[in-house]
Amino acid sequence: MKTLLVTGGAGFIGANFVLQSVAVGHRVINLDKLTYAGNLDTLASLEGNARHIFAHGDIGNRALITQLLTQHRPDAVINFAAESHVDRSIDGPAAFIETNVVGTLGLLESTRDYWRSLDSAAACSFRFLHVSTDEVYGSLGPEGSFKETTPYAPNSPYSASKAASDHLVRAFHHTYGLPTLTTNCSNNYGPYQFPEKLIPLIIQKALAGEALPVYGDGLNIRDWLYVGDHCTAIQRVLEAGLVGETYNVGGNAERENLTVVKAICALLDERHPLADGRRRESLITFVKDRPGHDRRYAIDSSKLQNELGWRPSQTFESGIAHTVDWYLENKAWTSRVLDGSYRMERLGV
Ligand code: NAD
Repeated sequence: MKTLLVTGGAGFIGANFVLQSVAVGHRVINLDKLTYAGNLDTLASLEGNARHIFAHGDIGNRALITQLLTQHRPDAVINFAAESHVDRSIDGPAAFIETNVVGTLGLLESTRDYWRSLDSAAACSFRFLHVSTDEVYGSLGPEGSFKETTPYAPNSPYSASKAASDHLVRAFHHTYGLPTLTTNCSNNYGPYQFPEKLIPLIIQKALAGEALPVYGDGLNIRDWLYVGDHCTAIQRVLEAGLVGETYNVGGNAERENLTVVKAICALLDERHPLADGRRRESLITFVKDRPGHDRRYAIDSSKLQNELGWRPSQTFESGIAHTVDWYLENKAWTSRVLDGSYRMERLGV
């Protein structure tokens, strides 16, 4: 059993990671600012569990981070906390710089000081794992894939802020010797994803029989990874990753956005047909493209697979079917997001 300080553990991937970590026996200190993307409903099954301690706060709050580190003495810090939605970064980049860059710097400095205070055995085994994205590498043409050595070329304010945070993490290893690890992962999907992202958005609209908005010509390509597989990759990198290294994480599942949307339509038509008999593909509506929309991402995760033996457990087909079923079986979770009640209760409104 290890003690992990997880930041952003009320968000989509962070919460899946927290649930998985507690299930395998770790103790988790979960620090989250509870922005619109933080949802304590996701962690309801951990209520009363002594191996999960929730702390409400900002990764940039050095006093709070130092207090959590010195009180709980974690073996690792895993940084998920971020502003994560590309469209929001286009409308308002400042929050992305504040959390993803300035906040990560605060977290790094507090962690470095804590790490320096550890005895040599604890300092040697301590890890700071930074969770990042393949979007830092920019956009690909029709061929090739991102490797860990691919030069950074971020195109959106979101990816630029994540790239900056990756560079800070790298610098803290090279300058101060902080034992860091960085993972750059492709698009995640699965249970508990906020319904502003493509897959849960399309599931909700398709269930309601509403228009299904698809950017541009729908032919932008992403690699898709089931969230549980991203979490096992992070666990594996924590256990066995080489300090100072970065690892690409992907699902070997490149799909055009239109293909993803059609797959959801087909699954829902089969499991939950519309009362009026319409096929859901007829609801697809092409909308004005996102400014600066990257055309194609593909990720080569052979380093993680060959050196650390990680493999995704889900194909895109099995993962998307499981995801659609999860949203069908957990409508209350989404309803509370859509009507805002997931926030009101915790804010005491
Ligand atoms: P998310 O938006 O669902 O969750 C982010 C969480 O961070 C929320 O709970 C939010 O309240 C919290 N948070 C935001 N600002 C904070 C701050 N200043 N201090 C403390 N907590 C704060 O994001 P996600 O999709 O779960 O992504 C998690 C991480 O994984 C991010 O760093 C993201 O860049 C990275 N990532 C995401 C994907 C993806 O497809 N979603 C892919 C690769 C990498």
